[in-house]
Amino acid sequence: MDIFKCKYLKHEKEEIMGFCLNQKCQNETQYCYKCLNATHSEHFNDCVRFTEIMEIMNESMLVYNQFEIQLKELSKTTKEFI
Ligand SMILES: [Zn+2]
Ligand SMILES: [Zn+2]
Repeated sequence: MDIFKCKYLKHEKEEIMGFCLNQKCQNETQYCYKCLNATHSEHFNDCVRFTEIMEIMNESMLVYNQFEIQLKELSKTTKEFI
């Protein structure tokens, strides 16, 4: 698996840190530490790190779980009502 290694030459040993979400960026969406400093340095605010993505995903999972619990309780009370 070298999906998480940078595709650029001389970056082969660098691990991918995250994704660049800049619309105008012509570079690879995936970036490593070297890319961030070289090719995405002007818009590093648009670069999202994997850890941040994980956090967002965890948060949305939490919301989803809460929603599921509410849904279950709702169906339970509805059944009891019937
Ligand atoms: Zn790179
Ligand atoms: Zn970029």
